[in-house]
Amino acid sequence: MIAGPTARRDAGADSPLRLPRLVGSDLRVPLANGELRPYVNLDNAASTQAMQPVVDTVIALLPSYSSVHRGAGVPSQVSTRAYEAARHAIHSFVGARATDHVIFVRNTTEALNLAAHCITLRPGQIVLSTAVEHHANMLPWRRLAKVRVLDPAPSPEALLFDVKRALEDPLQPVGLLAVTGASNVTGEVYPVEQLSRLAHEHGALVAVDAAQLAPHRRIDMVELGVDFLALSGHKMYAPFGAGALIGPSAVLDRAEPLLAGGGAVTYVTLDDVEWAPAPDRLEAGSPNVVGAAALGAAAQVLQATGMDALAARERRLHRYLEGQLRGMPRIQRLVLWDGEDADRVGVCTFTVLGMHHALVAAALSAEHAIGVRHGCFCAHPYIAHLLGVSISDAHTIRDRLRRGEHRDIPGAVRVSLGLGNDVADIDRFITGLRSVVEAGPRLQYREDPASGDRIPVDDQRSMPSLPNLPSLTDSGIGAGCGQF
Ligand code: PMP
Repeated sequence: MIAGPTARRDAGADSPLRLPRLVGSDLRVPLANGELRPYVNLDNAASTQAMQPVVDTVIALLPSYSSVHRGAGVPSQVSTRAYEAARHAIHSFVGARATDHVIFVRNTTEALNLAAHCITLRPGQIVLSTAVEHHANMLPWRRLAKVRVLDPAPSPEALLFDVKRALEDPLQPVGLLAVTGASNVTGEVYPVEQLSRLAHEHGALVAVDAAQLAPHRRIDMVELGVDFLALSGHKMYAPFGAGALIGPSAVLDRAEPLLAGGGAVTYVTLDDVEWAPAPDRLEAGSPNVVGAAALGAAAQVLQATGMDALAARERRLHRYLEGQLRGMPRIQRLVLWDGEDADRVGVCTFTVLGMHHALVAAALSAEHAIGVRHGCFCAHPYIAHLLGVSISDAHTIRDRLRRGEHRDIPGAVRVSLGLGNDVADIDRFITGLRSVVEAGPRLQYREDPASGDRIPVDDQRSMPSLPNLPSLTDSGIGAGCGQF
């Protein structure tokens, strides 16, 4: 049952879709002058608000919350059922094979690290990937084998051509192809089905980073031919700390457990251990039952709402956003595949000529109550490519950051849509952006040397404190520059 559905103004839809309500959809936030305004959340690619039905599941579970699997008490059995039901929901949501396992982890990063740990390549085999990847789908593979990184391809056809050629290279045999399902920077949806077919024809496995794909498109691992898939609950309206790795039992049942401990074993003696099969083998320790239940509920609600209908709605909104941005003076869109038929999730990234990305984002927040993201989106090589930053300039940036100098690091502004957005949100954003770009920010800003962020000189915003947590001043928060 989908609780509290709302109909929103849609861009050209015939009939409004019944969308699940998001917690915080009516949030009001302060401007720098202290006035309250309805918040426009255009940072969904980073994290989404919780869906009300997901929160309903969590609230229903909490009175019976208990440790899973071995407890004899009724709450333990309720929790165990919720945990395993969530596994089924994820399995169905991604169209996994009967022989696939769903392993609960914290997020996509952990899922891909776990996959890299579990997969064994033959001696001499390499991982093939591309420079568009998020760091989460780039760094773990470097620990597994040599990674051959293809330059960002100018079209899906060029990508398929490059991948085919690399797979045919006898000098660098590919054991695994690691690709994103959709770019978190430019939104392009990757031709995963064709890529998987090519990889399998050449005996390589396929791992897909579905962090951005899962909230926006229907996924069918069987149809796509994907071996390993990683996703995050906090990008799917279930921000309770769980994500999942889905992959074949033939690999996961034999993998050396990443974490050794309780729950991962069938029996332990003083000199030996019998590891359990997956998923237990790869879920040592007490699991995040609440997070898993939330993720399972989100998957079920998204599926029931209809991923294809959600995707169609988002495409209309996205086209509307792009139409409004097109032709705006000083705005330079960052796109890789700009053909009319290029499929894109609701992500739109741009730079403003003559204005630093941190200033644009800060002014949108402080003067218009609009939340966007700026920086490099944990995809440094891809942003460098899109902005024309050379390798030697990238090394200079690395050296400057190593010395703690955050001034004027090249980056961009990203707007990203979720199911909570409608045309009115885009109109508010366009009005705010026009005002910032054409008239300039109304306020004065200073640069925070620790992060490079811009902060209004006269900032009257006070952040609400939360019950049972100490209030921190800004100086207690830290720069968070690892997120750059
Ligand atoms: N891959 C992509 C494409 C992403 O957008 C993100 C999150 N920005 C990640 C991986 C990492 O996800 P998480 O932070 O949930 O581990």
